[in-house]
Amino acid sequence: MPIAGVGEDVGIITDLDELRKIADIVENDEQKDATVERLLSYVTPRALGLSAPQVNIFLRAFYLRLTRGHYIFINPRLSFPEKEDWMTSTEGCLSIPGQFVAIERHHSVALHFDQCFSIKNGTELKGECPKASPWSLFGQDAFVAQHEYDHLEGVLMLDYPAAPAKEAPNKDSQRAEAAKARRGRTKGLFHRSQRSMRLERQTKLKTKTKPAVKSKKVRVRKRKK
Ligand SMILES: [Zn+2]
Repeated sequence: MPIAGVGEDVGIITDLDELRKIADIVENDEQKDATVERLLSYVTPRALGLSAPQVNIFLRAFYLRLTRGHYIFINPRLSFPEKEDWMTSTEGCLSIPGQFVAIERHHSVALHFDQCFSIKNGTELKGECPKASPWSLFGQDAFVAQHEYDHLEGVLMLDYPAAPAKEAPNKDSQRAEAAKARRGRTKGLFHRSQRSMRLERQTKLKTKTKPAVKSKKVRVRKRKK
């Protein structure tokens, strides 16, 4: 009998329409076991992360290769810092081969989850994580978590506006204002969807008219997620 949310094993999904589906909550052990097994069978040494929708499972789970180890998270959620901490992350995606984009991500996130499994040697299930939810992630770890979380929301790296290589002099104050407005609207929410953040940022970028000037060097990362 098919398991709800678990499609056939058809390899890494590259169809963008498929990837835009929003994943459902993992509700039972049957779904969880099938998801963990499928994710593990597709983890490769070059993958920093892999979400269940990328392997045709439209359930909320992903694999992350963090600096502290390798893990699979069940029903992950993200929350973001109060302060503005945007950084440029250059990303690739196993579902969008050959493309890299530079986009803005939070430098730090808190990763909440229902369950977490440690992965030994990259591909073997070791058991439940000893450290309870939430986990604080920074830099590359935080970028990968945001990239994989986006997949659960049907959002792709291509959906973001490209990060500007140069910044207008008043951009910091624009960002602070936008962040303040967002916080006002979302206060009390556990997390806010990446899709709404993206739309807000796109709107902001469209209204920007000042010419750009030279700014801090953009950090470049070219790793697959
Ligand atoms: Zn991806």
